[in-house]
Amino acid sequence: MSNIIKAQKGTKDILPNDIEQWQNLELKALEIFTRAGFSEIRTPIFEATELFARGVGDTTDIVNKEMYTFEKSERSLTLRPENTAGVVRAYIENGMHRLASPVKLWYKGPMFRYERPQAGRQRQFHQVGAEMFGIKEPTADAEIILLAVDYLKALGLNDLDVEINSLGCSDCREGFKTALRVVLKPELDIMCPDCQARYEKNPLRILDCKVEVCRRILEKQEVQNVIVSDYICGDCQKHFDELKKYLDALNIKYKRNKLLVRGLDYYNRTVFEIKSNNLGSQNAVCGGGRYDSLVKNLGGEDTPAVGWAMGMERLNSLLEKIESKKMNAYVVSNFSVEALKLVEELRNLGISCDFDMTNKKFGKQLEKASKNADFAFILGEDEIKNSTISVKNLKTSEQKNLSKDEAFKFVKSMKKT
Ligand code: ATP
Ligand code: MG
Repeated sequence: MSNIIKAQKGTKDILPNDIEQWQNLELKALEIFTRAGFSEIRTPIFEATELFARGVGDTTDIVNKEMYTFEKSERSLTLRPENTAGVVRAYIENGMHRLASPVKLWYKGPMFRYERPQAGRQRQFHQVGAEMFGIKEPTADAEIILLAVDYLKALGLNDLDVEINSLGCSDCREGFKTALRVVLKPELDIMCPDCQARYEKNPLRILDCKVEVCRRILEKQEVQNVIVSDYICGDCQKHFDELKKYLDALNIKYKRNKLLVRGLDYYNRTVFEIKSNNLGSQNAVCGGGRYDSLVKNLGGEDTPAVGWAMGMERLNSLLEKIESKKMNAYVVSNFSVEALKLVEELRNLGISCDFDMTNKKFGKQLEKASKNADFAFILGEDEIKNSTISVKNLKTSEQKNLSKDEAFKFVKSMKKT
């Protein structure tokens, strides 16, 4: 066993024992998103590295530190660290701007980030996400937040915290950036190296820094005064106020978090996160916002857009484990030909069933049936001679000898798993 090959650090097998949990997330996603008019899109797992450099932004941690990049035929390729850039690329490349607006899309699948693995943080993890193109009005921001909240509710997660903020537009954000630079300048030498680099390129990201020394700087009164100032312009304020009005009307409780800037460069106006108290330090389940300039930046028509992504591992850790369901039936018989034929007939009638393939003793087969199924369908010598089936309810031990017709009638009335 010493030289067995193991799964890579930060990656995990999803085993049969946990798969119903995952299937539940995916089935609920399909149901909730479809009924809101969102269609699923599946984009490739790897893309040109440039897509993420331009699409996610080269001042972000994702692009600077976390990408799995490799070269093939002199092309630089990257395993997708997130899927918004890929969806936008597909939207542009497939001329989806010609479709009726809005274009509403959702996705699910693995993402890859070279991070330090810890609770709630893997190197290959999964996201489910939604993107909506074509609407600049705050109704779209409300609709996309509602979609996230509805999905969480459908999963039974009703008590999560929604935090919102507005980053303003590029115009009003410039004033804020300047004010931040002025007040942070005296602290520049003691900030973490990342924030020193962010200071010029994207000082907003400093608000998001988790390093202790930077957090302490942000708590200083003069810095707080800048952070709480209402820097966003009239139009952006109106957009934000309307969104809040819609969320109030929908009874979606939210908190304004002025430090919420999100890790990605492409957001403008609305940003939001949904957090849980039950997740420890990696407490964000969902992150999203508006990205009105991304489609154009990646070479498409000027198209406003808004979206979010949720971490599926984190969702799963908030949900109670789903107990595996038993099969409907187990065929108990020492006559392999008849057993095989009955199994096939039962499956064709839509019920789940299995049988013993090694001709074990009757008693052993019944034991296995009790563990794995709700009913045993018994084909012994007598049954085969008389063309009957003995159907045993494995919960109550009640057993009836039925004609084949009666047995199949009974099967049709069974609750299918
Ligand atoms: P964080 O602050 O936790 O690093 P982020 O801002 O990098 O999050 P996003 O890029 O917004 O995360 O991704 C959306 C969601 O995907 C997160 O809220 C989280 O639930 C999940 N997520 C992100 N990175 C990971 C990871 N490495 N492992 C597991 N889940 C992750
Ligand atoms: Mg991150």
